[in-house]
Amino acid sequence: MSTVFSKSRPGREGVWPEKPKTEPIDFLPGGLLREGSPRLPSLSELDVVRHFTELSRKNYGVDGNFYPLGSCTMKYNPKFTEEVAALPGFARLHPLTPQLPGGGDMTAGALEVMYEMERFLCEITGMDAFTLHPMAGAHGELTGALMIAAYHADKGNKKTKIICPDSAHGTNPASAHIAGFEVVSIASKDGIIDPEALAAAIDDETAGVMMTVPNTLGLFERHLPEIVALCRKVDALLYYDGANLNAILGKLRVGDAGFDVVHVNLHKTFATPHGGGGPGSGPVGVSQRLIPYLPISRVTRDEAGRYSLSYDHPKSIGYVAPFYGNFGIVLRAYAYILRLGREGLTRVSEAAVLAANYLRKRLADVIEVPYDRTCMHEFVVSAARLATEKNVRALDIAKALLDKGYHAPTIYFPLIIKEALMIEPTETESKDTLDAFVADLCDILALAETDPEAVRACPTTLPVGRLDETHAARAMEITDDL
Ligand SMILES: *Cc1c(COP(=O)(O)O)cnc(C)c1O
Repeated sequence: MSTVFSKSRPGREGVWPEKPKTEPIDFLPGGLLREGSPRLPSLSELDVVRHFTELSRKNYGVDGNFYPLGSCTMKYNPKFTEEVAALPGFARLHPLTPQLPGGGDMTAGALEVMYEMERFLCEITGMDAFTLHPMAGAHGELTGALMIAAYHADKGNKKTKIICPDSAHGTNPASAHIAGFEVVSIASKDGIIDPEALAAAIDDETAGVMMTVPNTLGLFERHLPEIVALCRKVDALLYYDGANLNAILGKLRVGDAGFDVVHVNLHKTFATPHGGGGPGSGPVGVSQRLIPYLPISRVTRDEAGRYSLSYDHPKSIGYVAPFYGNFGIVLRAYAYILRLGREGLTRVSEAAVLAANYLRKRLADVIEVPYDRTCMHEFVVSAARLATEKNVRALDIAKALLDKGYHAPTIYFPLIIKEALMIEPTETESKDTLDAFVADLCDILALAETDPEAVRACPTTLPVGRLDETHAARAMEITDDL
């Protein structure tokens, strides 16, 4: 694989119907003009097309193969949602398109989508109101934590701490910290929150408790009623990290369980894939007592059925995003929810949980599953024994999977399991795919016993082998020797 620069040949260029006239530029101040050449490669059109086509083939995506990346929900994403998002009436709508007084409004359709989407999410989660503005899961957490802070400040409560169990997603303590709270960590017991540890840690200064459910072990929290009661006693708000809502859709409504805040990742559960650096959306739902603090703007509907944006919410935490969040992602999720309906969404979580438990059961014979009991949408296995006995670590197994054509699972996360590999099959993979994955992973584990060196040498089929990832990110050197 060579770089576009090494393919450059002086004088080679694309085909122009007519040579562009290069007039001297005289309207820019002299200081802004480039002195030397921009050092662009000289290539024909075909060279360029082939170069980028070759690169695109090296790109790994869920459209190409299985992607069991725990915590990231890389599931098949239906193409019809892309078509909906590309409809020109939506795609070409500028966020500053004026709202015309008295109807005939060019933004009415978009506002209706946002309004209805908020109602859908309320119905799905049992919360009382939603904001669609946050642009990622972690951004939703920050929004939620800021609302918790605003609630307590408004009531005159002196609250400084947020409690996070050690099985929470790493973004939870980070978001609480950025919102100005001191983070108190509590140890989980038997893989889930221990109400006794929570009772010992919670006090009058506790502003809230942030829970990831299912937690990062893929386990459901069984002590929700005790946890809710403990929070209520000290007026601490209860936060539900619902990034992985595909585990509970149609089964549990977060609001009914007593939570005050929830964020959901539309780019995991509702059509858009997570990862890949694309835009995301992390709407946040709240219970009645947090409604005044929701970000602005809010979408309203009057009695005549007209939609508008309202900004007059004096207790609001203000703006958290430019305009209205990532509307295109909201639109895809809206289409997905309408298409699947109540029954379809329930089947999503049933299939996700079934697929994870099927894989867990099959893998439990060949690799250690530290909490080997019914999981939700994902589970964690450990390569600790192989690491000790054969010096084959989770990293080596992940690299060997690349050679078999898979994206690696999430590794070394959660931190509470040694040599962790976190696997999420998602609701959209067939049994054939899961069986093939088991067979390939079994091959790797067998090889680790007989020829550990061969596993440590992987990957051998890719353009690059093992990189120093820190160095590669901070001091990238591009060479043609790949
Ligand atoms: C993915 C995820 C997040 C963070 O979402 P981003 O959109 O990546 O910021 C938070 N919590 C959990 C449990 C997640 O799986």
